[in-house]
Amino acid sequence: MKIVLLGAPGAGKGTQATKIAEKYGITHISTGDIFRKNLKEGTPVGLKAKAYIDKGQLVPDEVTCEIVAERLKESDCKNGFMLDGFPRNVFQAEALDKMSEIDLVLNIAVELDKLMARLTGRRVCSKCGESYHISTFAEKRCPKCGGEIIQRADDTEETVGKRLGVYAEQTKPLIDYYSAKGKLESVDGMKPIDEVFAQIEKLLDSRN
Ligand code: AMP
Repeated sequence: MKIVLLGAPGAGKGTQATKIAEKYGITHISTGDIFRKNLKEGTPVGLKAKAYIDKGQLVPDEVTCEIVAERLKESDCKNGFMLDGFPRNVFQAEALDKMSEIDLVLNIAVELDKLMARLTGRRVCSKCGESYHISTFAEKRCPKCGGEIIQRADDTEETVGKRLGVYAEQTKPLIDYYSAKGKLESVDGMKPIDEVFAQIEKLLDSRN
C-alpha cells in the first residue's frame, strides 16, 4: 500500500509511522529524517537544508521533490511505502502525483493550539530518533538504545511558531486536495498514542 501521512508538526506522524512500519512492514520515508541525516553527515543537501530548517521554513521544493523521487526508486519501495512529512504543499502533492499513485492519505487531526506545548516539550533520542515528552520523561539516555536525549534545534518556541504558520498556510490545504480525490481518511490525533494507532489499524485492516 502507498500511504501519505498528513498532519501538523507535533500531530504524531513520526510516532504512528514507526508503529505502522513495525506492524505492517511498510517502508517509512520521513523527509525530515532524511534532511537531519544529511545535516549530521554534512552533505551538500544537508548544508542547503540547514538554513531553512533552522528558520522553520520549508526546504525548496526542487531539492525536496528530487530527494523523494530518488528514494521512491529504491527496491524497498516496490511493494509500497509510507511518506511522513511529504508532501507539504500543493506543488509537492502535484509532483508526487507524477511519481506514484497514492492509495490512502491518513490525516492525523489535532487541535493546533495544543501543539506548541507538545513540540517545545518534545525530546528525541539522537541515535534512534524515538520521541519522548518532558511531562512524562526526564531521563538523559534513551531506554530503547542508550542514545543521548536531546531537544531538536527546531523545537524552540520561536521556530515552532513559524512551523505551525507554514503548516496552516501551505500544508493544511492538502486536506481538501486529497479529500477531493476521495483518498483522505482522518483519525483523532488528540487521543492517546495507542488509541490513535487503533483507529489507524482499523482503517488499514479494512483495506487488506
Ligand atoms: P519534520 O521532521 O517533518 O518536522 O521536518 C523538519 C523540517 O525539515 C521542516 O520544518 C522543514 O524545514 C524540513 N522539511 C521536512 N519535510 C519537508 C518537505 N516535504 N518540504 C520542505 N521541507 C521539509
